[in-house]
Amino acid sequence: MKVWLNGGLVDNEDAKLSVYDHGTLYGDGVFEGIRVYGGRIFQCQAHIDRLFASAKAIRLAIPYTKQEIVDAMCETVAANAIEDGYIRLVVTRGVGTLGLSPFKCPDPSVYVIADQIVLYPKEMYDNGMAVIVAKTLRTSASMLDPGIKSLNYLNNILAKIEAIDAGVAEAIMLNEHGHVAECTGDNIFIVDSGRVVTPPLSAGVLPGITRGVVIDLARQNEIPVSEEDIPAERLYQADECFLTGSAAEVIAVTKIDDQLVGDGKAGPVTQKLSAAFRQYIASGEWD
Ligand code: PMP
Repeated sequence: MKVWLNGGLVDNEDAKLSVYDHGTLYGDGVFEGIRVYGGRIFQCQAHIDRLFASAKAIRLAIPYTKQEIVDAMCETVAANAIEDGYIRLVVTRGVGTLGLSPFKCPDPSVYVIADQIVLYPKEMYDNGMAVIVAKTLRTSASMLDPGIKSLNYLNNILAKIEAIDAGVAEAIMLNEHGHVAECTGDNIFIVDSGRVVTPPLSAGVLPGITRGVVIDLARQNEIPVSEEDIPAERLYQADECFLTGSAAEVIAVTKIDDQLVGDGKAGPVTQKLSAAFRQYIASGEWD
């Protein structure tokens, strides 16, 4: 495998960062997880724009233009002959001192990994997945804005540990108001009397690229969709629930804590949107 690191491709084994990189010392950096379908980068511009917005929010100047980053991704995908796969695009603060100051790190590190990914087993895509509601709350925007896709994922990891301890693959995270925010690595939707509802960005969520695609697909399919604060209790009354993410794509949730969602099977709206998503990918008519 080849990894693109700071300007060019290197062998996997030679793709190394310094132990003084603030990405590893402090989780100081930003990243994107991106799908490749049919050898093309899915929603490329949206991911690049979000990466640059995340970097700006933490005052990290990416030392390449947007086009240079796109070129680096294309080069990495081609070098590894990835047809259907996943890109991890990372910008760390770079090498600095042992102190916190990011301004002592003059050269951010940029790297691109292109590889295969299977997030959840096929059985879960066929039959839906069980999740829990985590006790760990999502950080509020005033602490560390979940809209910034930073390398600092411990908040999510603590909730993920709760999920694994409970024997499930994902956890729903609430915000400090007791409203649903998102999952540890996915956005969340519920379906209520035929209406699709997802938390607004103001609930403290990553503006998911897949979330945006699914909202558009719902509108195109004349399925009513709205962004609303969802009190945790409303989760248990939902007819359907599903998650979206670049890695997860669209996946039904059929159990929340110890309660079945609807009849415990992937519901009709979820199935319709999941099929529409697959069709959209297969059509190749996207950027
Ligand atoms: N929320 C979180 C916390 C995430 O890490 C991700 C991406 N893995 C998502 C939502 C989904 O975002 P996207 O559709 O852009 O992958």
